[in-house]
Formats: sequence, structure tokens, C-alpha cells
Amino acid sequence: MLLKSTRNDDVTARFREAIFIGLAPDGGLYYPAEEIDFTGLYSRFDRGTPFNTIATEMTAAFLKDETDREGAARIVDRAFTFEPALVEVGEGIKILELFHGPTCAFKDFGASFLASSMEEFLKDRVERAIILTATSGDTGSAVARAFYGKKNIDVVILYPSGRVSPLQEKQLTTLGGNIHALEVEGSFDDCQRMVKEAFNDSSLKKEFGLSSANSINIGRLFPQSFYYVWARMQMDENPLFCVPSGNFGNITAGLYASHWGLPAERFIAATNANNVVPDFLETGVYRPRPSQTTHSNAMDVGAPSNFERMEVLYERDVENFRRQIQGDWVTDRETEETMVRVYRDYNYLMCPHTAVGYLAAERYRQNFGKKAVITLSTAHPGKFVEVVDQVLGIQPELPPELRSLLNKEKKAELVKSDVGEIEKYLRAHF
Ligand SMILES: *Cc1c(COP(=O)(O)O)cnc(C)c1O
Repeated sequence: MLLKSTRNDDVTARFREAIFIGLAPDGGLYYPAEEIDFTGLYSRFDRGTPFNTIATEMTAAFLKDETDREGAARIVDRAFTFEPALVEVGEGIKILELFHGPTCAFKDFGASFLASSMEEFLKDRVERAIILTATSGDTGSAVARAFYGKKNIDVVILYPSGRVSPLQEKQLTTLGGNIHALEVEGSFDDCQRMVKEAFNDSSLKKEFGLSSANSINIGRLFPQSFYYVWARMQMDENPLFCVPSGNFGNITAGLYASHWGLPAERFIAATNANNVVPDFLETGVYRPRPSQTTHSNAMDVGAPSNFERMEVLYERDVENFRRQIQGDWVTDRETEETMVRVYRDYNYLMCPHTAVGYLAAERYRQNFGKKAVITLSTAHPGKFVEVVDQVLGIQPELPPELRSLLNKEKKAELVKSDVGEIEKYLRAHF
């Protein structure tokens, strides 16, 4: 698949290169630049088609010039040892649970596929890659888990000392093997700056084959389209998709699936108080701003990076956006009320991000007619113990995948917040 940068048509890469580059050299995001029509492909799927079959078919078609069907199947089967689930909660609303992966959040789908593709494309090149990444907690753990045990790939994760939750720290520091944790004496911003400086040092980057695995990587975005297709196949009518959004990667993947031929009624972009995109859809003016802290903190984004990909998709015309997407945003108070009400009425416990989407889905049905809505659940409630406890007064059960980590031993190297520490670490270990 030929990809182009959102900032410059002349900046191009194949998928198998772009996944190692991450951000395009001009600062733009890679997007699929070839005409894609999956209508024929989708028409061969039905309710019983396994998730991995859908993923394999789509991957084989998307990467037809870069790997064969066996290659596509290898990537998919190594990546997805878990599946989405669809459950009805309340009238006309289905929740697409995306938290059955190893770190109990939807980011497992993207991270696992990226790791698996990198492993596949490195195997013919007798090369090694080192993934360098900074995390404030969640993303890093999905990446660490996804790359654990992958051949020819090492991961070096920087995290701010004392500023991630104890459970998150365990997720980053107990795997060992090819996963290396640097505990930085500083903030998340310091970690990000160090990683950025290391990437700017082109000789260091080249010498160690440094790559990034952050959420803008096309290798994480593309696989997120698979579960929209799978979920659509479970329905008798065209659903609306409601997507709790922060950086807008998840919804962009759904918009792509639809653009490639998946019949869907509309998309609802649901945010918390960081409502830059709903505001844009209403006023036509895009005003990124500093982020605010909310209960759904994985969505606290004031300048969503994937807006650039959406702009290309809709040819920078707000009317085109409006034809397919509708915005809504939810306060912390409303998030709390929704968690309480849905637990009381349906005995279903939601994480705060999922609650944002759920309320937006309900409001759509009240205001615009009783359409079938699929709303995406992005994380297991057990990952957000503090908020759930505060709102509902109950301690959610930690999923077993995470519970077992608590007894494992932390291994991390404590370093100062200076890019020199990264170089020192790389020279000592690789
Ligand atoms: C990352 C994340 C989101 C937001 O997804 P985007 O693709 O950034 O819009 C929502 N919920 C959870 C739990 C997340 O981790």
C-alpha cells in the first residue's frame, strides 16, 4: 500500500517502511493514498465470519503488493490471540467490548498488529530494530506487552518516576527479556523530550535502528478498522458507530472502514470536556487548545493528532465532515451519572471512557430517532479502580491478566532526565 504524508503529497512510503518510520519526515501522518474498494471483500463476510478471518482478508488486500496471503495470516494470527465482543446494554444500544486483550484496553489491537507486522517485515532483512518510546502509563504497557518476545526487536520505555500508577509500573517493568524500562527522574514531558532528542540525533538513530511505536503509526491505525467490520456483520441493519475519542485514531479507523465500503449509518464522535472536534463540527472553526484533566483521562487531548488524517479524508471541507460525523461531549458529572445509572439498571460496569460514549449514544437516540447504535468500549473498568470506586463505591475486580502482575518483581534502571542517558543505555546494552 502506498502511503502519503498528510502534509505533502511528495512524501511517500510503503506500509512496510512507514511502520518503522512512524511520523513522516515532514511532521505529517501517513495515510493510505491508493483507491481502496473493499465492497466485494466485505460482501463475503457474515455474522459467523471469525474476527481473524476478517482481519486476514483485509490485511492481504491492503498489503497485496507487500506480502502474500500466508504473510498476512501470520501477522494476524500472531497478533490476535483475543477478540472483540458485542453485548446489548439497554434498548437499541450494543457495546463493542475491545478490552479482552493482554492489557485490557483497545490499544492492544493496534499495538499487537504493529509488533507482529514489524516482526514479519524484519525477518527477511536480517536487521534489528529498537523501539524507543515515552509513556505516561497506558500506551507504554500495551506496547511493552505487544512486543514482548518478538524476534530482532527490543523496546526501551521511558516513564516518569513516581508518576504512573503502581499497576501501570508493574506492566512496564516486570516483563524483562526484550523489554527494557528506564525510570526517569522527571515528568512525562521530560521523557517525551528525551525521546524526541534521541530521534533528532540522526547518527544515533541510524546506528541503533531506532523506531517509534506511538499511536499515530499507520501500523496501529489500520488494524483498528477490523473490529468495525466484524461488528457490522453482527447486525441486521446499518448501525451508527459511537466512538469515545481523544486523539481520534480509533474513530479515524472506523471512518476508513466505511470509506472503503462498509455500510454504516453515521459516526458519533464523543469526547469529554476536551471538545475541540465537536466544537469544530458545530462552528466550522478548528481551535486546538491545552488539555483539561477529566475522569476519562486517556481522552484528555486538546490537539488531536488524527485530525490531520480526517482533514485529508474530507478534503478540508466541514460540510463533508458533517455528512458523516456528528459530535457530542460529556461532562465529568454526566459521566458519573451514566456509570451509576447503567450499573443500577443493567448491572453493567463501565470504565469512564466507555460511559462518555454510552451517554452520547443514548442522547443520539433521544434526539435523532431510534437507530441501532454500536458504542465502543475502550477499556476494562478494572483499569480505572480509583474513578470507579469514587463514583460507585465499589472496587471493580481487576482482570486476571493484570492481577497476576502485582506479585512480580520490578526491574527498571533509574536515570536522570537527560538524553545522554539514553545513549549510554543503548551503548551498554546493544
Ligand atoms: C486511547 C484511549 C482512548 C482514546 O482513543 P483515541 O484513538 O485516542 O481517540 C479512549 N479510551 C481509552 C481507555 C484509551 O486508552
